[in-house]
Amino acid sequence: MASNTELFERAARVIPGGVNSPVRAFRAVGGTPRFIARGEGAYIWDAEGRRYIDYIGSWGPMILGHGHPAVLEAVTKAATEGFSFGAPTEREIELAEEILKLVPSIDQVRLVSSGTEATMSAIRLARGATGRPKFIKFEGCYHGHTDALLVKAGSGLATFGHPTSAGVTPGAAADTLVLEYNNVEQLEAAFAEVGHELACVIVEPIAGNMNFVRASVPFMTALRRLCSKHGALLVLDEVMTGFRVALGSAQSHYATLIPGFAPDISVFGKVIGGGMPLAAFGARRDVMQHLAPLGGVYQAGTLSGNPVATACGLATLREIQKPGFFEALSARTRQLVDGLKAVAADNGVPFSADSEGGMFGFFLLPELPQNYAKVMTTDKDRFNRFFHAMLDAGIYLAPALYEAGFVSAAHSQADIDATLAAARTALR
Ligand SMILES: *Cc1c(COP(=O)(O)O)cnc(C)c1O
Repeated sequence: MASNTELFERAARVIPGGVNSPVRAFRAVGGTPRFIARGEGAYIWDAEGRRYIDYIGSWGPMILGHGHPAVLEAVTKAATEGFSFGAPTEREIELAEEILKLVPSIDQVRLVSSGTEATMSAIRLARGATGRPKFIKFEGCYHGHTDALLVKAGSGLATFGHPTSAGVTPGAAADTLVLEYNNVEQLEAAFAEVGHELACVIVEPIAGNMNFVRASVPFMTALRRLCSKHGALLVLDEVMTGFRVALGSAQSHYATLIPGFAPDISVFGKVIGGGMPLAAFGARRDVMQHLAPLGGVYQAGTLSGNPVATACGLATLREIQKPGFFEALSARTRQLVDGLKAVAADNGVPFSADSEGGMFGFFLLPELPQNYAKVMTTDKDRFNRFFHAMLDAGIYLAPALYEAGFVSAAHSQADIDATLAAARTALR
C-alpha cells in the first residue's frame, strides 16, 4: 500500500504540484495532502486506510454524503444506458424543470459542466443582453478561473482591475471593477461614476471563498436597487450556496429579508451535480433569449447536460426536497458551529462562527469579519496548527483559512460529538 507521501511524490512527477486544483496541495497549511481512496456517508478514507469525518464534501457538492443509495442507483442506471450522446435527452428537461421549480426567479436554464464555465457564460450573457462592456466583482469572491475574473482592485475607486494570474492580459482585466464586499458607500460611488457602462454586478450572496461572509442586508438591498436603477443585471453566483444553504438557495433566504428580492441571472454548480461535473446558469426568459441558437451570445459544450451527470444531479435534488431535509441539515450544522464556539470560549480562544443550511465557517477572530481584508487578519499559524491537529484526529477540514465548510445529511450526532471532542484538544 502506497503512503500519502509516496503518492504525492509520484503525482508531482506527472502533474504540476501533484494536484489538479491548487488548494488540494496543502500549500496554505503545509504538510502532505491526503490521497483519498473512497468515501461512504460522512467519511472518507485515505490511501493509508485512515478514516476522516469529511467537512469538505468535494467543496460542497456532497450534500447527501458519499455514495447515497438513491443517487448511486440513478447514476448506475444512467451509465448503463450510455455515457454521452451529444444530442438532447429527456433528463435535461427534467433537471431544468426541477431547478425552475425550486428557483422562481428564473424561467430558463442552460446546463454546462463547471462553475467556471457557468459564471463565464453568465457574464457574456449579461454583456450581450445589455450591450455594455464593464462589470463589478468583489474582493474575496471567487467565480471560477476565467480571465476577466482573475482580477484584483486597481489603485483608485473607478480604476479598473489588474490581473491576479500570470497569463491574464491587462486587456482581459480592463473591464472588471473590483470593490470591497459589504461596502455600500463604495458601491454607490462606483455606480455614480460608471453605472451606464455596467453590464452586471456578480456577487456571491454568502461568500464561501473567503471562508463564510454574508452579504449584509443593506449591501444586498443596495446591489438590487443600483442595478435596477442603472440598467445593469444582478448576477448571483450561487455555485456554492445553491441548494446548499436552503432549498431555494441563498436568494430565497434574501427574499425573506428583502421583500421582492430576486437576481437577474443565477449561477449554480456543486450541489446540482451531486458530485458530477455539472453547473448551470439561468435567468428570465427575455435575458435567456439572447443565447445561441436563439440570440447572438454564443455558448456551447460537447458534454453539457451529460446524461450521467444529470442523473446524479436530479437524484440529489430529489433527495434534498424530502420533508424536513433542510431543517435537519441546518440544525446539525448549527450544532457543530455552536459547539465549536463553546469549546473555543472554554479555552479562551478568540473565535467566531456562522452557518446557513449545510454551509458553515469559523474564524480565529473575536467577531465575524465583513470583508476579505478582515478575514485575512486571522492568525494564520494558529489556524494551521488547529487544522493539522484536527486532521491528525481524523477531522477533515478545508486546508486554508479562507474556505467554507460543509456538513452533509449523513453527518450524525456522534460525528459532531467526535469533532467537538477533537476541537477541545486542538484549540488548547
Ligand atoms: C466553486 C465555485 C466556482 C467555480 O466552480 P468550478 O466548478 O470549480 O469551476 C464559481 N463560483 C463559486 C461561488 C464557487 O464556489
